Amino acid sequence: KEVVSFKGVDKIYNTGTVALSQLDLSIQEGEFISFLGPSGCGKSTALRMVAGLSEATKGKVEVFGQNPKDLIRNSNDIAYVFQDSNLLPWRTVLDNVVLPLELRGSNKNTRKEIAMRVLEMVGLKDYLKSYPRQLSGGMKMRVSIARALAAKPKLLLMDEPFAALDEMTRQSLQMDLLDIWKKEHTTILFVTHNVYEAVYLSSKIAVMSARPGRLASLIDVDLSYP
Ligand code: ADP
Ligand code: ADP
Repeated sequence: KEVVSFKGVDKIYNTGTVALSQLDLSIQEGEFISFLGPSGCGKSTALRMVAGLSEATKGKVEVFGQNPKDLIRNSNDIAYVFQDSNLLPWRTVLDNVVLPLELRGSNKNTRKEIAMRVLEMVGLKDYLKSYPRQLSGGMKMRVSIARALAAKPKLLLMDEPFAALDEMTRQSLQMDLLDIWKKEHTTILFVTHNVYEAVYLSSKIAVMSARPGRLASLIDVDLSYP
């Protein structure tokens, strides 16, 4: 089942920058696809289009067969994790994680139950009452991932989520993300400029080339290591 499609997509910003040129790509349910390429090749632009935050200059982007802008308004199907964890500093870990559930209107007990489940997944169930300033960068990113998972999104968008972390923390988060993907069967679109990260995490890699941003090749990764 197709989750995301780019059909002949060009993106030219009003500054004249051609960020994407003739992008054709079909992403299937359950795939973990990485957009891999040098800085400026249009990876974030592509992701923002899927989230309905940016519009194609030419061509069409569809998510679950719909215009992403309509989809965003009507559902919690898409979650977005940025490089910066973007937590609300005045809310505890628990209250940050339940935020998308509050916005959806689920009741308090359900919210807590779901929050506990996703915080356990990222190894932070003992930090419910901590505030973001009390956590390390890696822990904040874990909270951010937990918050994204709380709404049970069908599609998880991640833009260089681990870029700001040290190597050990990054590796530990990569392993956890792989476990989560295998368990939750979420379709993941992941932006990175790190080749090792793309190969380690993804089931498919969209290699992009810069100036203008084009899809250079599409690689299937076989994750069945011996
Ligand atoms: P990447 O994520 O691969 O680093 P981006 O999608 O952020 O690439 O950017 C692609 C190109 O478009 C770059 O040249 C960037 O400077 C430019 N760009 C990105 N966003 C905007 C914007 N809002 N306005 C103008 N130019 C932009
Ligand atoms: P769109 O044309 O896709 O709607 P916007 O022009 O609204 O995109 O810009 C999206 C975001 O990118 C804005 O927050 C803007 O400040 C930022 N931005 C602007 N220029 C650049 C650039 N050259 N590179 C990266 N980001 C940029």
